[in-house]
Amino acid sequence: MIRPLRFIIDLLFPPKCCFCGKIVFTHRDDVCPACWETLPGLSGGESRIEFAARCVSALKYEGAVRRGFLRYKFSGDYWLGEVFGEILAGVVFEALDGEFDAVTWVPLSARRRRSRGYDQAKILAETVAGLLGFPLVPSLAKKRDTAANSSLKNADERAPNVSGVYEPLPGIENLRLLLIDDVLTTGATLSECANTLLRGGAARVVCATFAEADGT
Ligand SMILES: [Zn+2]
Repeated sequence: MIRPLRFIIDLLFPPKCCFCGKIVFTHRDDVCPACWETLPGLSGGESRIEFAARCVSALKYEGAVRRGFLRYKFSGDYWLGEVFGEILAGVVFEALDGEFDAVTWVPLSARRRRSRGYDQAKILAETVAGLLGFPLVPSLAKKRDTAANSSLKNADERAPNVSGVYEPLPGIENLRLLLIDDVLTTGATLSECANTLLRGGAARVVCATFAEADGT
């Protein structure tokens, strides 16, 4: 963009940190220095997702991460997905390099996508695929709406809620897939999706999420 115009836009709409909302000084800084220092990072551990060989998350789902994410999910600030996707891409590159051939995501149902206007996990996946140079492959269809998993308390309620809800799309046979979702809670959704992908012919599934909540 032409420099004077960018300057005026920055004055009128100063860029803000995508986690804490404080004003940052340039559009290149989407995260303020204080947040960079204190974001609750995670190291990629062994998978607690059934049917997935590995699973990594970028950040702990708490404090500023949780607030920033809720803004992304519910306030229409879909551009935040690109910033979060960039953070996730760094973690994927470090932890899962060489373990997948294509990137895919946990989809919303068509109805939910229409009402929200965007699919938050898809934006993360698009950003990761673009930055790391892998193809983005649609791999799952969500057949019906489920009660939002976040409204269900524990794994016992969540597993039946997602059972049989997804179906595999053609074209994933023999692919090693990186499956991306926004927040990992109990892992019921990711397990169901990974299982569905393997049944659809995928060779292997590894998972990555932007944030991980304490499992219940
Ligand atoms: Zn901040």
